[in-house]
Amino acid sequence: MTMTLRELDQRMDLFRSRCMERGLALTHQRWVIYRILAGTDKHLTPEAAFGQIRKQIPSISLATVYKNIKTFLDVGLLQEVGTSGQMMRLDANLDPHHHLVCVRCKAIQDLSAEGLRPVRLKGRLPKGFRVERFNVTFLGLCGQCSPRYTASTRH
Ligand SMILES: [Zn+2]
Ligand SMILES: [Zn+2]
Repeated sequence: MTMTLRELDQRMDLFRSRCMERGLALTHQRWVIYRILAGTDKHLTPEAAFGQIRKQIPSISLATVYKNIKTFLDVGLLQEVGTSGQMMRLDANLDPHHHLVCVRCKAIQDLSAEGLRPVRLKGRLPKGFRVERFNVTFLGLCGQCSPRYTASTRH
């Protein structure tokens, strides 16, 4: 699944309107940072995003990129993918969805919410806990890493 230009346009429209709502100045710097993150479904780390952003703004620092990422997380323009014990992975896909995580190469792919049967809780939640959203992480091997896949495509 790759990002279409139309999807990127929609994400940038949302970026523009959310910045205006939240009183965030629409600087060139913010625009470039968000466009890099919104233009991929690879769930980049901040460091990987920084490498690409620097090609467009050579003078930018990693600290500035981090600061803006934090702002985007705060206003809900980005989400952090929960992969415990690993580096922060950033997600600009704000539609409800789940993730397929490769345990070997750490690639993260999106799985649409419709790709999963409804999840229902059984029993009670800890007192006072209110669920706002949920996402499911499937751990496994991606097509590149799966030995079975490699063997079957060799002949
Ligand atoms: Zn893999
Ligand atoms: Zn995602």
